[in-house]
Amino acid sequence: MIPSSAGVLSDLERVLIDSTAIQLRVAQLAHQIHRDLEGKPLGVVALLDGSLFFVADLLRHLDIPIQLHTLSVSSYHGETTSSGRIELAEKFPFHLQTENILLIDDILDTGLTLSSVRERLIREFQPEVLRTLVLLNKQARRIHPIQADYVGFEIEDEFVVGYGMDYQGQYRHLPCIGILNPSKNALSSIPS
Ligand code: 5GP
Ligand code: MG
Repeated sequence: MIPSSAGVLSDLERVLIDSTAIQLRVAQLAHQIHRDLEGKPLGVVALLDGSLFFVADLLRHLDIPIQLHTLSVSSYHGETTSSGRIELAEKFPFHLQTENILLIDDILDTGLTLSSVRERLIREFQPEVLRTLVLLNKQARRIHPIQADYVGFEIEDEFVVGYGMDYQGQYRHLPCIGILNPSKNALSSIPS
């Protein structure tokens, strides 16, 4: 990133995972998925906006037929804790033609988002294989009983931004993942 005096990187209290570590792990995950699914065609469902950068980087490692669809799902509304609700349309706005589905999200937190979408995908498309992949796992906050098949990094119960993840629409473009300075996070004092 090009440093500047008004740089957003300085809004971080600390970097949790730097861009080199992220890129290395993304490449490892791509290799693992390619090997496990034996290079078969893949239907990818990416949950936006958070997984935008992750999916873009990951899929470019995979030299296999991929049908990519995205879904905008949000359980956070400009806050730092999940609202406990997600809004999903009655039917998916796409059809998946593959036997193998990979569902991707940025963070597995309470588990509501991933478990809801996973259940709906199984019901609607009855795939032979459905695997789930998340960049980050916050095991401590799990409410819904779901574990992802592939996890990039395990993290503590802290609110993170960067590499696709936002705070009120900002910081998604940071190449690293970090913790915001409390002065930049208006809701940091509200207990979850
Ligand atoms: P869940 O439904 O598992 O509670 O929430 C998952 C969603 O919450 C993720 O897709 C992500 O968008 C959002 N989320 C969870 N933890 C964080 C966090 O630390 N930072 C940001 N920016 N989003 C988060
Ligand atoms: Mg999300």
